[in-house]
Amino acid sequence: MRTIGVIGLGHMGRGMALSLRRRGFDVMGYDPAPAAREASAADGIEIVDGPSVLWRACGAVVLSLPNPEVVEAVLLGPDGPLQGARPGLLVIDTSTSDPAVTRRIASALTPAGIDLVDAPVSGGPKGAHAATLTMVIGGSERAVARAEPVLAAMSATRVHVGDVGAGHVTKLANNLLCAAHLITAAEAVRMAKEAGVDPERLLAGINAGSGRSGVTQVNFPTWVLNGAFDSGFTMKLMRKDVRLAESLIGALGLDLPLSGEAARLWRDSAEIPDDADFNAIVTLQLDPNA
Ligand code: NAD
Repeated sequence: MRTIGVIGLGHMGRGMALSLRRRGFDVMGYDPAPAAREASAADGIEIVDGPSVLWRACGAVVLSLPNPEVVEAVLLGPDGPLQGARPGLLVIDTSTSDPAVTRRIASALTPAGIDLVDAPVSGGPKGAHAATLTMVIGGSERAVARAEPVLAAMSATRVHVGDVGAGHVTKLANNLLCAAHLITAAEAVRMAKEAGVDPERLLAGINAGSGRSGVTQVNFPTWVLNGAFDSGFTMKLMRKDVRLAESLIGALGLDLPLSGEAARLWRDSAEIPDDADFNAIVTLQLDPNA
């Protein structure tokens, strides 16, 4: 499995393609956006005209795509691997996607001898470039073992959480928590500011206590309090993840009140543009210029 395809060469896919190349794989990539193609070509990635070339040329193909609709169109559409693929093709979906869609795609690919592993990631574009991502992985023991050398070239931490789709369930739970923590942390900072406590000192206290989270330890110091808002993860993508988590909760018939309220706040935040950094949700409570 020396030749790997990457479909979707955006913030994440470009870094993953580069990490695979650095580990000695031959990497071929596809993205419909000219700017993404040019950036990856400059990194030494061989760019192809469409995904169908990759299913035949590569032992494994990694996807890093914006949403489940695009993932489904790429895998089950007219240029998908069911129209012709190398025997034993392995598809690794690192997008944050819908577990129901992932399972449906797996049911269609398995009879054709194509393995699907979902391996959504945390760690942002920096982690993708540095191959330090965390992956939560869904797939059969056999498929995940086959995928291991490819996954290891892109990540520092891998947790196999269950059968196909389980990675996407876990990633949605993770991002729902992150989305909610951004709001609750902004509320805590607002409360403390009004009560006369400096936000940086507040966070030092919280991060030494039991209220800490990735948001208080990473997001606030790295992207919020310094006004940078340049994580490389957009409001649009987090809105998609919150929507997917909300629809999973709905499909399961669950009533989860705090998750529902967090999802509502994200849905009703239309004044924050889609292309803003996702940390901008804190502006519901905090003025970054204050
Ligand atoms: P992005 O928008 O930067 O990149 C997505 C790329 O997919 C774009 O270059 C786009 O042109 C391409 N694309 C769209 N339709 C396509 C198609 N039909 N075929 C091939 N390529 C197509 O997004 P991103 O930030 O790189 O995120 C990719 C995925 O990773 C998303 O599912 C996101 O939720 C997830 N994710 C992102 C981050 C982050 O920090 N950016 C972190 C973890 C997970």
